[in-house]
Amino acid sequence: MSPAEAIRAVVGGERPDRGFCAATATRAGELGLTGWVRRREDGSVLIHAEGNRAAIGQLVGFLRGGPTAVRTTEEVTVEAAAVEGHEQFAIRGVSAGVFVVQEHAATAHHFDVRLEVDGVMRSWAVPRGPSLDPAVKRLAVEVPDHDIGHNEFEGGLGSGGVIVWDRGTYEQGGRVAWPEALLRGHAVFVLHGEKLAGGFALQRTRGGAKPQWLLIKRRDEHARPGSDVVAELPRSVLSGRTLAEVVSVASR
Ligand code: MN
Repeated sequence: MSPAEAIRAVVGGERPDRGFCAATATRAGELGLTGWVRRREDGSVLIHAEGNRAAIGQLVGFLRGGPTAVRTTEEVTVEAAAVEGHEQFAIRGVSAGVFVVQEHAATAHHFDVRLEVDGVMRSWAVPRGPSLDPAVKRLAVEVPDHDIGHNEFEGGLGSGGVIVWDRGTYEQGGRVAWPEALLRGHAVFVLHGEKLAGGFALQRTRGGAKPQWLLIKRRDEHARPGSDVVAELPRSVLSGRTLAEVVSVASR
């Protein structure tokens, strides 16, 4: 087998039609290539493909004149890139579902970070809450799945309470497909919330009955070094209330 090579290609302009990313992913899969395709904000499409040189050549041919392509060759640029070790060919920039972060006053105060995966909310209890500072690693203890119906719950709970601290949608990223990435203990994702945005990683550091992970902000345009988002933005995105206000009303 010849060693793997990689390219980055840009299909320019706003010409690529709605099905272009899906058609590119299908063709790459047929050719045995891995990597990803993503539509950019300006309407152009960015492709990272790696694998066999001949297959990469065939994919470039497809990009320059494939069945869904109505473009001229001038609009496709191709550059050599580093092989990153992808195990899938993914469509990026597509929502994988919803996420929610619930701040929870219980025996120990914590934030529950929940991501929709295969119809349930995979959940981690994060004692100090998420951070937008890439230098900060927050302990995240894996806890049982929750129903999606619990995502909007806010109010008194036992002697404590819960607020919806943030919510939105997310994309699954990384080199390995989900939920395999979670099984292996390294999952990369992009949040589109009201407070949290951009790339994050969950890295498992200890297995067993209560697996421990680290929640880390990735370095991107949404990173805010030195910030403390849970202190700066304490209010519920549902009601505008703080957790203390919800708990004091509930205990009256
Ligand atoms: Mn909790």
